[in-house]
Amino acid sequence: MVLSSYTGRFAPSPTGPLHLGSLFTALASYLDARAHQGQWLVRMEDLDPPREMAGAADNILRALEHYGLLWDGEVWFQSTRHTFYEEAVHYLLQEKIAFYCTCSRKDLQLLSADSYPGTCRGRHSPPQEPAAIRVQVNDRPIRFDDALQGPCEFNLQQEGGDFIIKRKDGLYAYHLAVVLDDAAQSITHIVRGIDLLDSTPRHCHLQQLLRLPTPHYAHLPVLVNEQGQKLSKQTFAAPIPLADPVPWLFECLRALGQQPPAELLQARRDELLQWAAQHWSLDRVPRQQAIAAVTLCTPGPAHVTSKQP
Ligand code: GLU
Ligand code: ZN
Repeated sequence: MVLSSYTGRFAPSPTGPLHLGSLFTALASYLDARAHQGQWLVRMEDLDPPREMAGAADNILRALEHYGLLWDGEVWFQSTRHTFYEEAVHYLLQEKIAFYCTCSRKDLQLLSADSYPGTCRGRHSPPQEPAAIRVQVNDRPIRFDDALQGPCEFNLQQEGGDFIIKRKDGLYAYHLAVVLDDAAQSITHIVRGIDLLDSTPRHCHLQQLLRLPTPHYAHLPVLVNEQGQKLSKQTFAAPIPLADPVPWLFECLRALGQQPPAELLQARRDELLQWAAQHWSLDRVPRQQAIAAVTLCTPGPAHVTSKQP
């Protein structure tokens, strides 16, 4: 077995099929791992059944295979890990760092504050009515160095306040699950979309509270449609077709600033991926928040052009 100090991951939520935006993210994280001779894991973030689409998890895995993005080991499913999340919630409640919150959305809207005002801090035993569980934050800067976005600093008290780790409806929050699973899978490097940049200080905060290591982060620009909206299920991004993967991978590489030579459009999928891993440079990824992806109406490759946000 090759021992490497790099373990990366792609962690899609199975709310719909893989689209160009998610392929772009998956490819970048895959190449960064392969370029470091690292492991690359896939984890299904199926935490929120009402938002999920039947068959999407399978569909995403088949699409990754079709595009040659083969992962190491078993795919983890967050839906099987509730006991583990509950233990952490229990620990944080016991340590009095987390508390029950019965505020309704309306209560909080009426306060018109940017941050949760701390109303329910101190409620450490379960109330009669349904309650969310929030973790307490501090009025101190949280700093991390992002490989693409540079030094980042957030004050969680001023930017959102105490945040939810378990929802009133009993579902575990993304912030909690992602931190626990990244640690449980020994993830050392996280390459994901910049739309998650302001989640990262929440993740660092939980890592500190739970005494878990903080991985290295790199937040990529996201692909946006002609209206400037992030490609996503909500913006009706088209699924990537299971046709010839080469033109699509090529377009993603271009958008990632990797400058693939035109003749590689004639290459086989695995040759293209091999070239991409050998020549991968995170430094060449554009330092902007958004890259316009104009998908042709007919299934086929997308035109991806660089644009300032
Ligand atoms: N599951 C999250 C999403 O699909 C991504 C999680 C992550 O990369 O941290 O947006
Ligand atoms: Zn509250």
